[in-house]
Amino acid sequence: MSTKRPFASASVLESIAAQYPTPFYIYDEAGIRANAQRLVDAFAWNPGFKEYFAVKATPNPALIDILREYGAGVDCSSETELLLVEAMGMSGDDIMFSSNDTPAGEFEHALRLGATINLDDITHIPALASACERAGVDLPDTVSLRFNPGGDFAFANGIFGSPEGAKFGLTEPQMLEAARQLRDLGVEHIGVHALLASNTLSNDYYPTLARTLFAMAVRIEREVGVDVSLVNLSGGVGISYKPEDEDNDITLIGEGVRQAYEEILVPAGMGDVAIATELGRFMMGPYGALVTRVIHTKDTYHHYLGVDACAANLMRPMLYGAYHHITVMGKEDRPCDHLYDVVGMLCENSDRLADDRALPEVQVGDLLFIHDTGAHGHSMGYNYNGRLRSAELLLQEDGSVRLIRRAETPADYFATLDVLPVYDRLPKRKSERP
Ligand SMILES: *Cc1c(COP(=O)(O)O)cnc(C)c1O
Repeated sequence: MSTKRPFASASVLESIAAQYPTPFYIYDEAGIRANAQRLVDAFAWNPGFKEYFAVKATPNPALIDILREYGAGVDCSSETELLLVEAMGMSGDDIMFSSNDTPAGEFEHALRLGATINLDDITHIPALASACERAGVDLPDTVSLRFNPGGDFAFANGIFGSPEGAKFGLTEPQMLEAARQLRDLGVEHIGVHALLASNTLSNDYYPTLARTLFAMAVRIEREVGVDVSLVNLSGGVGISYKPEDEDNDITLIGEGVRQAYEEILVPAGMGDVAIATELGRFMMGPYGALVTRVIHTKDTYHHYLGVDACAANLMRPMLYGAYHHITVMGKEDRPCDHLYDVVGMLCENSDRLADDRALPEVQVGDLLFIHDTGAHGHSMGYNYNGRLRSAELLLQEDGSVRLIRRAETPADYFATLDVLPVYDRLPKRKSERP
């Protein structure tokens, strides 16, 4: 059971809020670093191991640069994400491109960057071949294939996903056929990838997935006679959003994958396969928080806390009913003897950050620390109701704070409209002046 203490104190957050108005996202550099080191240590037994951080989770260069110090590359899913990492100076072996329903031009961009391309469908082979022609390059030496074994994906403590119902990946016969086609086109090495469950809280997810992918890898080598050089376990290792949940233990997870590797790959003469991961949530989720201030209390049929953030800042509760733990800053040790619905200002009744949440008695002006929003939080933000996305801040190891993404201004909202010249003539609010 985790205790869910905020990584910054009430007085630190108040002094930050004096400089950067709420709401804002804040990330904990020390926490990101310690976790990245644990991952590296857990897979140190595999010389080719590499984490490709899932950019979509938290597409902020300052945060990705921290992970790069621990050997991480990136996993991109779109051309814009490729442009982002290109602008950061990344290329080649540092980029995995795991897209689906991929527009043709995006393969060209990935090829030009020398990314490892992970195909989601057998029909992407001719698409990749013609992208190579257009880009004037050969097919890459290594091409990876995304596997979908179908059925339900079950392990130790239950069913975690239903690959059969998922739009992703190739069937087992298609994996073999695709490997044949790629071999015949001159591709030398095949990668095998799968993402079969999301936010798993079990140290068995990766080891069970690894067994499935290792067996697939052995079949491809034996039956197709092409080298499998890479097994990509992708993302899906979860974090404990609720205080009563048990955290995953990445050391045990790495050890479980090692045992599967020794049992399946080594006896098949495949002891040189590199393991890749594409973790997003696990790398960043616990080390980011949305900090928002209570601006209204409202008592009708429920007790409401109206905050200055909304679903445009954090969509997960609205989208999946996701739980994010909330700490009322300065009241950390008071009894949680009040029940509140924590809501934003969107004209949508589903704009809630928490329902029926037990908290200490809250007053207008209190700061709320919304935990575990470091992944799939800010990046899912949107602009409904003309709401603007907040700033992102980095709480650095030395205690100082760095602005790593400014808050959006109305000018950003107007940037894609042809009324921008009219907007430019309007008087500007204080927050918009340069
Ligand atoms: C979303 C995604 C990830 C990251 O998933 P997490 O649950 O954040 O670890 C990795 N790979 C692919 C292909 C994805 O779509």
